[in-house]
Amino acid sequence: MVATTIETSNNHRQLIIPNAYQTAIAQYHRATEHLAIDDNIIEFLRYPRREFTVNFPVRRDNGKVDMFTGYRVHHSTVLGPSKGGIRYSTDVTLDEVRALAMWMSWKCALVNIPYGGAKGGVIVNPKELSQAELERLTRRYASELIPLISPHSDIPAPDMGTNEQVMAWIMDTYSMTAGYSVPAIVTGKPIIIGGSQGRTEATGRGVIIAMMESLKQRGQGNRTDISVVIQGFGNVGSNAAVYAHELGFRVIAVSDVNGGVYNPDGLDIPEVRDYCQENGGVMHYPGGEPVSNADLLTLPCDILIPAAMEGQITASNASDIQADIIVEAANGPTTPDADDILNDRGIMIVPDILANAGGVIVSYFEWVQDLQAFSWDKDEVFRQLQRIMVRAYDETSNMAEKHHVDMRMAAQMTAILRVAEAMKTRGFYP
Ligand code: GLU
Repeated sequence: MVATTIETSNNHRQLIIPNAYQTAIAQYHRATEHLAIDDNIIEFLRYPRREFTVNFPVRRDNGKVDMFTGYRVHHSTVLGPSKGGIRYSTDVTLDEVRALAMWMSWKCALVNIPYGGAKGGVIVNPKELSQAELERLTRRYASELIPLISPHSDIPAPDMGTNEQVMAWIMDTYSMTAGYSVPAIVTGKPIIIGGSQGRTEATGRGVIIAMMESLKQRGQGNRTDISVVIQGFGNVGSNAAVYAHELGFRVIAVSDVNGGVYNPDGLDIPEVRDYCQENGGVMHYPGGEPVSNADLLTLPCDILIPAAMEGQITASNASDIQADIIVEAANGPTTPDADDILNDRGIMIVPDILANAGGVIVSYFEWVQDLQAFSWDKDEVFRQLQRIMVRAYDETSNMAEKHHVDMRMAAQMTAILRVAEAMKTRGFYP
């Protein structure tokens, strides 16, 4: 589905943005049109394998019990156990979780790690809960997921609104039920209980590796004056900003949910990060001008990194984007009709399933280390991360060149082909 405009009762035209699942399905159909895959397999991979909804009670600190709703969707288990994060947000819907699970299948296949795709979510604003309430919510949701998750079937990880502490509670809840410690049940855990070196930085670092590959592809690999705008200053956006700054790129604007800060001469990112930690946001950082999230997307810059959430770049703002390259750190930040506008304008998009795969790549390293009870040092983790990101980037750009398609199409085609090939080899059961 593309974005459409409708007339509202008071004669205003309102833009209807497709939801994330409609975006994921539209992307899937676009990619499969270019592929010679058995129609039965195309139909099979269009659907999530299983969808789980749980309604569960959480005791608040004041003694009242509130009900919450959570989901876990397994899109595919063709290449291996399903893998994907858990999101805590009031915007969580079953359709959003379905889309994110499908994107995880393609992401894991694209970077060639032996996982299928899953995602989970709870409808909650974690900032409105006390730490004790958050722990009770997490432990109850984790115990509701026990029939679905295990180190060999489905391995959760952090996503928006969750962090390594939440993963620690999930690991503990599962382990208490099993009767022994099971570190490989989740990734993105604290290092002390089996987390991996470099996991926290992995997604943001991978985004900048993908960005550098895109500059090389555009013949701009040696330019030193690249300006970067980043929407979102959570784990992914802030780590991307830090790594870009360390490498000498000029990060000129960053933002969080409330708004951003802009300085065309470049921001001192370590200082912005300290400011954000102390003040709970970046907007009023004194080293720049405040800028709204909407205006930030259309600032003059070389690289735009949406690192917040889905559906940010739409038909209504795609014509105003001034960046040469968009590197999608968020999942699904661009709608299909915005893709068309950006492609027509010659703006390159490094798609989400490639750009933000660093997180799940290092999650895979964490899981492998846990299963082997052996840990790698940070240099090894980053060296292997670099190797896999560059390989996936090259495979995607080769596919794009061979079929004369854009990078999103090429990434989706590469990934879907891999899953389809595995499905063909395994065959339909029974
Ligand atoms: N939530 C992250 C993503 O969207 C990481 C998933 C994982 O590490 O399993 O890729």
